[in-house]
Amino acid sequence: MALSAEELTNLPHREGIGASEEETGRAIADVLRQFHGRVAVISSFGAESAVLLAQIAAQDASVPVFFIDTGRHFPETLAYRDALTERLGLKDVRTIAPKAAAVAYRDPEGQLVAFDPDACCALRKVEPLEVVLPDFDIWVTGRKRMQAATRAGLPLMEPQADGSVKFNPLAGWSEAQIAAFMKDKSLPAHPLVAQGYRSIGCEPCTRPVGEGEDSRAGRWAGKAKTECGIHRPVPTAPQ
Ligand code: SF4
Repeated sequence: MALSAEELTNLPHREGIGASEEETGRAIADVLRQFHGRVAVISSFGAESAVLLAQIAAQDASVPVFFIDTGRHFPETLAYRDALTERLGLKDVRTIAPKAAAVAYRDPEGQLVAFDPDACCALRKVEPLEVVLPDFDIWVTGRKRMQAATRAGLPLMEPQADGSVKFNPLAGWSEAQIAAFMKDKSLPAHPLVAQGYRSIGCEPCTRPVGEGEDSRAGRWAGKAKTECGIHRPVPTAPQ
């Protein structure tokens, strides 16, 4: 599905919002109301995912939340997905995965990550998501500008080539805000955060980060790769 030209022109908060909790909550409420039944969330159930999911659940716990089980996640992430789902009362968490036959054919030994991580992400993340992308018009993500230089220009509303829109309500949030929100709402932390992981993806492609590093510096560390292909780098400042 896609937004009409009129809907794209009149997207709520297209000009952006501030980064306060109140403004973020209003923007989420406006989008969920205006596009009721056409909105889904994509979540990695990673280090900061609870902040977006809690705000979605506070407005409408029945909004579909998609999690891609690549088969290469830390076991802690799968346990956290289940615990956070229960804690927030999320009613429609959908786990999607690559087709077993495709994995058996293209990555029978599980070695694709070592010599072609782009192909591995295409197989295990991008293609499973592409199956469900046409079912929704607005995809909510928890990305933030402060996470990395490659996300510095992230807009609140991000129209896609297929006519859908990515909605990034936390785009302007700071690390301090994230931490304060987690504390204020008594949200459980991903178990690996205590071990220095500040952005958590698949186990072979994630390491803890050191003091002063971007939170995403531990993703595909040592490689030029910065995104899995679900999202594209947005490195310049927003207009
Ligand atoms: S993050 Fe790593 S293991 Fe996961 S799909 Fe991408 S390349 Fe493969």
